[in-house]
Amino acid sequence: FRSKLPRVGTTIFTKMSRLAEEHQAINLAQGFPEFDCAPELQKLVGKYIAQGKNQYAPMAGVMALREAIAKKVFAANAKEYHPETEITITSGATEALYVALSTMVHPGDEVIVFEPAYDSYVPAIELNGGIPVFVTLHPQYESIDWEEVRSKISPRTKAVIINTPHNPTGNVWKRSDLQQLADIAEKHDLMVISDEVYEHIIFDGREHISAASIPALAERTFLCGSFGKTFHTTGWKIGYCLAPKELTTEFRKIHQFLVFSVVTPVQFAIAEYLENPEHYLTLSAFYQRKRDLFVDAIQDVGFGLRPSEGSFFQNVSYEELSEENDRQLAERLTIEAGVASIPVSVFYNQITNYQTLRFCFAKNDDTLLRAAELLRKVV
Ligand code: PMP
Ligand code: GLN
Repeated sequence: FRSKLPRVGTTIFTKMSRLAEEHQAINLAQGFPEFDCAPELQKLVGKYIAQGKNQYAPMAGVMALREAIAKKVFAANAKEYHPETEITITSGATEALYVALSTMVHPGDEVIVFEPAYDSYVPAIELNGGIPVFVTLHPQYESIDWEEVRSKISPRTKAVIINTPHNPTGNVWKRSDLQQLADIAEKHDLMVISDEVYEHIIFDGREHISAASIPALAERTFLCGSFGKTFHTTGWKIGYCLAPKELTTEFRKIHQFLVFSVVTPVQFAIAEYLENPEHYLTLSAFYQRKRDLFVDAIQDVGFGLRPSEGSFFQNVSYEELSEENDRQLAERLTIEAGVASIPVSVFYNQITNYQTLRFCFAKNDDTLLRAAELLRKVV
């Protein structure tokens, strides 16, 4: 048997969550909230199940949800996406990203990937015969070298994939970054995939700049989003893809044969829950408090850190504390301190050790404080 992904094993999230369980460690590794979604949202799912919304949804998604997303995105970006032809509900952002890449990548096409990169991007490119071309950033990078990005473009470059707020670094792109990208994409006729799953988790008064807010980008972008992070429902796997009509037509050709459609009653419930913007506009403040609590609590461990700008991840470096590589340290801390994290080098394809760990702070306050206490004892 000849593997199509010879270099890929089980994802690091599965590995570290399993190790955490084995050693009964606090799991600050895999990114998911420790707390539950709102009871009101749970009730809505029950309501729609009881109403018999239990058969296949339309292939492109429940219309009420597509309309609610159109309204929300218009309010934030003054950009209209037509529910009928430009919005597709997917099985999480993971499916949206995969399908978007499948839509455009032909064998031999190159896709620019900023690393560290979320783990699903590169396999999705490679399964479609594409070639990832990396722009490598330090885990605590301050700004993007756009000259370097330009230098990576070749006649075979088809697309660029971006992610803001960013997993794993917690960095947030500025409008000038998106503008630079728009200029490059226009000049070289590139497609863009914009992963915006952490759009509502952004700190210190920063603003999420969506690809939808820049017309020159929106016209060539597959915008991928998810409700998993926004509503504390990572297990529901409801995401979406927004793209101009011609792109959406191609997107749906693949989506219809990958999953056809996604879970019906949950789509109705989310559509109704979206009617109140407070349900998502309060999330940044909620997580900023947790970030501050965690950053304060680990202050005296001796890590190097810049507070996360967005997402629910905090990266820390530890060059002065240990010579171990980050995989070794993440394992040792899980076993000896009882705190699991993710070694950031797994998000790189070309670099094996950046001596940086990623901690997820989407946890209850006492869990975060306990984790800090345990780390203080062992590191
Ligand atoms: N992109 C990024 C950057 C993520 O962190 C995640 C979730 N961890 C996803 C995509 C996938 O989202 P979903 O769970 O909705 O498939
Ligand atoms: N996105 C989550 C993270 O970065 C994990 C998702 C998954 O387990 N695939 O931790």
